[in-house]
Amino acid sequence: MAAAIEQGAEGPARVAGPVFQSYQLACIERASLGFLDAVAAGAAGAGKPRGRALGLYDVGVMKSLFLAILLVSAVGRPALGATLDIYWIDVEGGAATLVVTPEAETILMDAGWPGFEGRDAERIVKVLGEEVGKLELDYFIASHFHRDHTGGVAALADRVPIHNFVDHGDSVEVGWNERADQLWQSYVDTAGEERIRAEPGQRLPLAGTDFVFVAARSRFLEEPLAAASPNSACRGAAAKRVDRGENGKSVGFMIRVGDFEFLDLGDLTWNYEIETACPVNLFGAVDLYQVTHHGMHMSGAPAHIQAIQPLVAVMNNGPRKGGSPATFSALMAAESLVDLWQVHRAVESGAEHNPSEEFIANTGETEGCAAHWIKASVQPDGQFSVTNSRTGFSKSYKPR
Ligand SMILES: [Zn+2]
Repeated sequence: MAAAIEQGAEGPARVAGPVFQSYQLACIERASLGFLDAVAAGAAGAGKPRGRALGLYDVGVMKSLFLAILLVSAVGRPALGATLDIYWIDVEGGAATLVVTPEAETILMDAGWPGFEGRDAERIVKVLGEEVGKLELDYFIASHFHRDHTGGVAALADRVPIHNFVDHGDSVEVGWNERADQLWQSYVDTAGEERIRAEPGQRLPLAGTDFVFVAARSRFLEEPLAAASPNSACRGAAAKRVDRGENGKSVGFMIRVGDFEFLDLGDLTWNYEIETACPVNLFGAVDLYQVTHHGMHMSGAPAHIQAIQPLVAVMNNGPRKGGSPATFSALMAAESLVDLWQVHRAVESGAEHNPSEEFIANTGETEGCAAHWIKASVQPDGQFSVTNSRTGFSKSYKPR
């Protein structure tokens, strides 16, 4: 029961909370004209009120036409630059991390929330269409079965082909409540019979990058990825409440290119983070770190952060979700950290618990759901840059 309560902090109970729900509703009002609809409306005639344009023209036909144009241009486009690109797509406090390899293979871990007329799926499609030029996913990885991660995948699969589904195994929250059951059933219906089960140590066969799963279903690598010195932060690392739910089952992966490493552990919780860091540091130092669990306080164990010594961190928080002062402080305590980037400003925290605005993609609470993303672009030698799509501000880093 304790586990169910802990899950509730991010699962259905949190979603139904008045603050979060009202924010999401404010967002859908403005976002109801989706990406494809907006394009269709634009094509139908500049200057027309969008609503009228949608009423006057056959949006279905326009969507098909637009998709056909995008697909043709994807086929005919020149070879992509040899960078590995990572996008943190804004899904309002959920997760949608898109990896595009130097060979243009597309891997998406998580697809945001369900509902809101496919808002999060359309945001992902928009990045695939406008930035990547490939309306197709080679792999979808379900980090775990919570609505802010796998809720949006059914709507996404309606819009783009997804060739492989990877997950940690069956949801451990089936039978906990009706919403958990619905979420699970929706995923199974979408993914079909041919699911790939991630195992720690297993690799995805991708050219030009080493992609290895490091966590799945509360199991981790048996051997460390790199030799690491003893982690002094293990002393006094205190455990929190046991987590038997889906967060702790999160699939985690590491990507390496040249000297560069990127680590994404989904919503792995505190005690498990410590397990990966103490007594043996399984991951070694990483250059780029997706802050675990949106920066929520039930993750972000200092022993874990000290073990991986992140150079740059990206937090996929929402305006009122994640970005907790405790996690912010734990990150700032890491001497290795040069910059923290955030998908949203944590609006309940002051300037002392947020980075300066150039490192924040979405600064307000109701700013029209512009859904600005953050992108990291990694050169073959491991040098990388991070860009804020709201301003175009970009900063380069040398891997260690
Ligand atoms: Zn989450």
